[in-house]
Amino acid sequence: MASSKEIIEQTNRFGAQNYAPKNVVISQADGCKVKDPEGNEYYDMLSAYSALNFGHRHPEIVEAAKNQLDSVTLTSRAFHNELLGEFYERLSALSGKELILPMNTGAEAVETALKTARRWGAFVKGVEDGKQEIIVCENNFHGRTITVISMSTDPDCRKGFGPFTPGFKVIPYGDIEALENAVTENTVAFLAEPIQGEAGIIIPPAGFLKKASELCKKNNVLFIADEVQTGFARTGKMFACQHEDVVPDIYVFGKALGGGVMPVSAVAANRDILSVFTPGSHGSTFGGNPLSCAVSIKAMEILVRDDYPKMAQEKGEYFMNALRKINNSHIVDIRGRGMLIGVEFDINANDYVYALIHNGVLAKETHERTIRFAPPITISYEELDDAIEKITKALSE
Ligand SMILES: *Cc1c(COP(=O)(O)O)cnc(C)c1O
Repeated sequence: MASSKEIIEQTNRFGAQNYAPKNVVISQADGCKVKDPEGNEYYDMLSAYSALNFGHRHPEIVEAAKNQLDSVTLTSRAFHNELLGEFYERLSALSGKELILPMNTGAEAVETALKTARRWGAFVKGVEDGKQEIIVCENNFHGRTITVISMSTDPDCRKGFGPFTPGFKVIPYGDIEALENAVTENTVAFLAEPIQGEAGIIIPPAGFLKKASELCKKNNVLFIADEVQTGFARTGKMFACQHEDVVPDIYVFGKALGGGVMPVSAVAANRDILSVFTPGSHGSTFGGNPLSCAVSIKAMEILVRDDYPKMAQEKGEYFMNALRKINNSHIVDIRGRGMLIGVEFDINANDYVYALIHNGVLAKETHERTIRFAPPITISYEELDDAIEKITKALSE
């Protein structure tokens, strides 16, 4: 087997450098633990940005995938497949929304939500086509396509990629007054992450989501929640909007929806909204493919059966309390919900990330100063204690 060094050199020689990965090659994974080619073991505290809520290779999800590989993997949407209906029904029950539209990546699902809102604006609300406005938040992260980065306020995401898609207005995250002032008769939607993940685990001021959702209702504006990172139990509720008893008009799902095996994303909304799509108006070759449906159906079944929200809530609290005991004067804030936790430093956190890696814990900083801890929700208390010991060692002064 090639060494980590050889693999990294090969990867860097032939690949575009649009990422700066840490110097760890993951070649084996099981649950919350991964191994490199040299046999070093690590706790995975990033979980592929919450795509691994079920841990690596959850046995039942892997079994569902293997079984599906033996029957049919891809049909395209030109024909029906046996599992798409069941996928719809399960996600509909879980989200409480009448209709589902399947895609693959988070960015595609965000695009789908934007198209939904624009068409709803033109067809239902009566906004002149081409005049639709969508309000978004500063420091948002919704993916990497041209339209999605058109909403971004991060210069690194945008530089050199213009011209951008028009029709977006940006307000400070959590600022209800700014939202109120930004709404016009042409506003069709307000798009927000219930907790901003990439921005550094930013929780909005208490009541913001609730007030924003009420404001949207009052003004006939759709409230779109991007739950790609926060959804499916990560924050201690099935969906992070539930922390404020908010039911958005449109949910955007991704990451964990694929059970850590396939890229699966979707938009969920009621019929009065999602029925704006007609044949030919939107689609995806791989969206809703039977292999994706098989793993996702199993993932959703496990999520409910094993009460993942409760697990994330309890383990998250336990974890956060332990993190608060770490003695380091450079730690200025520890925040989070459930198993989505940010530890913010007053200095660049890169050296701490390598100290963690050196101690057998994989984590990564976001926006230089905040380390995100988001282990698989399946991590046992025994494993968590062990990981906490390593983290404490790495982060203590
Ligand atoms: C990761 C993420 C996306 C984009 O998902 P991709 O699958 O990488 O396209 C969108 N929104 C949020 C909140 C995310 O965390």
